[in-house]
Amino acid sequence: MSQNSSSSLLINRPKISTKISLIFSLADRLLKWYDRQSDTHTKMPWRGEADPYCIWISEVMLQQTQVATVVDYYRRWLEHFPNVQSLAQANLDEVLKVWEGLGYYTRARNLHRAAQVIVSDYNGEFPQQYNTIKTLPGVGEYTASALSSIAFNQAVPVVDGNVLRVYSRLLCLVDDIRNPKTKLLARAGLQKLIPQDRPGDFNQALMDLGRNVCQPRQPQCHVCPVQELCCAYNRNRTGDFPVKSKAKATPTFQIVVGIIYKDGKVLIQRRPPKGLLGGLWEFPGGKIEAGETPENALIREIREETGLEVEIGSQLTQLKHAYTHFKINLTCFVCEYQSGTARPKASTALRWVKPGELTKFAFPKANQKILPLLTPDK
Ligand code: SF4
Repeated sequence: MSQNSSSSLLINRPKISTKISLIFSLADRLLKWYDRQSDTHTKMPWRGEADPYCIWISEVMLQQTQVATVVDYYRRWLEHFPNVQSLAQANLDEVLKVWEGLGYYTRARNLHRAAQVIVSDYNGEFPQQYNTIKTLPGVGEYTASALSSIAFNQAVPVVDGNVLRVYSRLLCLVDDIRNPKTKLLARAGLQKLIPQDRPGDFNQALMDLGRNVCQPRQPQCHVCPVQELCCAYNRNRTGDFPVKSKAKATPTFQIVVGIIYKDGKVLIQRRPPKGLLGGLWEFPGGKIEAGETPENALIREIREETGLEVEIGSQLTQLKHAYTHFKINLTCFVCEYQSGTARPKASTALRWVKPGELTKFAFPKANQKILPLLTPDK
């Protein structure tokens, strides 16, 4: 049965207390369903894991990233850094290299910093209380809730995008889920529903339900364990929820980078440790300003960033890449070194590297796409 409705007329804000009384059996139904999902659990190597370190790594990797993508990264990460001590002792280059390709690199830098804090301030033992976990670098409400409930059995609800969608449909919530207040509302509501004996499983069940059943466009209501309790389903209005205002349009920037050759090596620079793609290596270049040709912009950027003068050669490639808040159209040229001594002006380090050795460094995704195009013997 189709559950979509074209009606844009939303119902009045429901009386939450009344709604909640209707769904007190939510936990019971969800947990019974969760216990039957052996296929789902098998696909996630961290499921059933008791070690807070492993749960932490998996939860951080899962933010903004599909389960199928995370599985290999998770395994590889634990091979390199099997515990909090090994992560704390690793150098940042190694950490970023193992994370390379997973995106949102701040997560990797924060894992590294937080591991060092756990070793120095907590004697290598993971702190157990929600409020203490939340003080670790990079640990926000989501990660602290997931860790304290899954690893330490504390009744703290997790509210991610999947959970918000389920909650909104269960209650026919008229509040915009992009509004931070809606998240607080959901958290307060779920706090009343989360069972004391299995809080971690309850949270994971809700997240699984959102990810695998209550999907954004086509919720699989016919297999949903909470169908009878669901307001949106019962009113034939699943298409109306969650209420979500339009996202702002993302800007697109024109970027140019240069592969500068000198004596068979190419120049790479390391981005500052904080901010977008912090600590990663990249080819020099930058934004093409209004009125500039890509070639002129590249000469200017290379001069500003490295102090070098170069001659622009042939265009190597053009590619597009989307980051969270903007997109880039990137043009890449081969350049020949002319004069000057390379000095880092916009980066923390510059290095001349043989093309065949570039894969030892961690690069952002857009730069990674350039690497296979370089001729090692140039
Ligand atoms: S019944 Fe449908 S809309 Fe309601 S929670 Fe289940 S999958 Fe989502």
